[in-house]
Amino acid sequence: RAKKHLGQHFLTDQNIARNIVDGLSYQGYDQVLEVGPGMGVLTKSLLDKTTETFVAEIDTESIDYLKIHYPKLQEQHFVGDFLKIDIPTVFKGQLAVIGNFPYNISSQILFKIVDNYEVVPEMVGMFQKEVAERTAAKPRSKDYGILSVMIQAYYDVDYLFTVHENVFNPPPKVKSGVIRMLRNPKEGLAGNEELFKKIVKAGFNQRRKKLSNALKVLNIPESMKIHPFLDIRAEELSVADFINFANEWKDAK
Ligand code: SAM
Repeated sequence: RAKKHLGQHFLTDQNIARNIVDGLSYQGYDQVLEVGPGMGVLTKSLLDKTTETFVAEIDTESIDYLKIHYPKLQEQHFVGDFLKIDIPTVFKGQLAVIGNFPYNISSQILFKIVDNYEVVPEMVGMFQKEVAERTAAKPRSKDYGILSVMIQAYYDVDYLFTVHENVFNPPPKVKSGVIRMLRNPKEGLAGNEELFKKIVKAGFNQRRKKLSNALKVLNIPESMKIHPFLDIRAEELSVADFINFANEWKDAK
């Protein structure tokens, strides 16, 4: 019986599960962590690959089920609550992350991956469609916003495919979307993450206003006040534009 508070919606279509697993590029790492395996519909396909599979699951009933049905998973492959594990301590080397994620903690999962981007080269996962679209969105689209820029500063994101609610048990209220994120560290950001984040947030918090207005709350430095980006809106700036802008701002008087 699915537990609502754990965001449990079990995928019932093995072909879709295989398509999600096939979304992984398998380049440059030999460990995969599946978040929220549930009854193991993705795990089954993952275990067919040569990569070592770990699972982060908090539901004890699911864990007992997985131990019985997937004997390839050893005790050390169960790592518990994804939000609580310290990734670099638990895993040595590079680690890909995959999952049909619990939607109630989507953004926490995404930001935990970004916080660990040095050890996570790739993620393939299913989110509610709207979150998947916002993560993958390009400039000048209605979905382009804080989530898009914050994630794409570290990863290139591809929207892979949409999944209809009727292939889950119980069906969720919304459609789902599968995305792939491939690490692409924007070197220019090193050491300037805090200011970058503040500018992105302030810019999109008043997304209908020009940046000269939206960023007033941050006290624009005098020498930046004639910057051409201030004359346009946040949604018109690419991720690289935001990074360059934050770096110029940092050095401005
Ligand atoms: N992968 C399965 C499937 O596709 O059928 C289950 C997906 S279900 C949407 C999400 C799963 O995440 C549930 O099994 C739930 O128990 C688990 N879960 C919820 N919170 C979690 C957390 N913080 N860490 C790890 N797993 C979690």
